[in-house]
Amino acid sequence: MTRPVCVDIDLAAIRHNYLVCKQKAPNSRTFAVIKADAYGHGSLVVAQALADVADGFALLNIEDALRLRDAGITQPILLLEGPFDTAEVTAMSEYRLICAIHSDHQLDWLRHAPLPRPLEVWLKLNSGMNRLGFKPQRLPELLATLASLPAIMPTTVMTHFATADDARGIATQWPSFTAATRSCGLALSAANSAALFAYPECFADVVRPGLVLYGASPFDGQTGAELGLKPAMTLRADIIAVQELQTGDSVGYGSLFCAERPMRIGVVACGYADGYPRIVPTGTPVSVDGQPSRTIGRVSMDMLTVDLTELPLAGVGSRVELWGPNVPIEWVAAAAGTLAYELMCAITARVPRRLLS
Ligand SMILES: *Cc1c(COP(=O)(O)O)cnc(C)c1O
Repeated sequence: MTRPVCVDIDLAAIRHNYLVCKQKAPNSRTFAVIKADAYGHGSLVVAQALADVADGFALLNIEDALRLRDAGITQPILLLEGPFDTAEVTAMSEYRLICAIHSDHQLDWLRHAPLPRPLEVWLKLNSGMNRLGFKPQRLPELLATLASLPAIMPTTVMTHFATADDARGIATQWPSFTAATRSCGLALSAANSAALFAYPECFADVVRPGLVLYGASPFDGQTGAELGLKPAMTLRADIIAVQELQTGDSVGYGSLFCAERPMRIGVVACGYADGYPRIVPTGTPVSVDGQPSRTIGRVSMDMLTVDLTELPLAGVGSRVELWGPNVPIEWVAAAAGTLAYELMCAITARVPRRLLS
């Protein structure tokens, strides 16, 4: 017996979505971005599900990368933020990880770290996001520096887009990146999910989709399904109690919701301590035994309430989908004033993960 809340991870959907990405950019390599525990889906299980098709993987923590190597993943693994200290440079070379570098202090670590094997390096340029990266005009000088380090093999120049998902697109960053990298002789990588679905001109040598692998859309007002993707994550829980309301009865903390007619509501074993956003208002879509319904009142720590008035067959034990194939995560994210990214990453450790393949 266990509390009836669960997150289903559909690995076949992730494979499907990866292959959609490959089809979009058939002449590029597609590195699957599996940082943040594969956006909450599990970085090792996702890597294993893609092991026979993926051109490479990208993530942040060296610990996660080593776990992939220990599990027999042989593809290139790119560490998107590079080393966080000198020792990591040595470990990256030992485990054949690709080291992105974005700052001078990392260059210093490259100079001084003992390298058991040659280390592949990607240079990260700041083309306008102003988060990580060297100024584009420094590229020739940086390449000269790297050329003087015998065990360092620079292969690729990368950048990251700030607005590929909205109307501004890549209009300023892409020209600045291409101008700086013209005739540098290295491979280029720029596209995230949004750019991969909107701007073929920037596919270059390596594309780096994250969100779309998990079946969500990076674009406001559009769902992943509308882009040909399959949602990979289903958050679901069962109804554990039913209440009959009279007109005037209120529900939950703050008595936020007040019944304007007799109603039947179901109490669902999922709350904000599971990662469902507390902020969503009454009316946020859910699905009860496959039928559309809505949340009622305030989400509490361990429970939330849904409307069963029109669903007379639903009751204790009914299955409620909070997001998944029947309830696009983008709808819940919009109700919460956030993005699918944040909801996926916010599922908490107490929610068991069930793998579907
Ligand atoms: C997270 C990340 C990506 C993937 O972004 P999505 O919007 O999820 O596709 C690609 N590149 C870099 C450098 C990233 O940090």
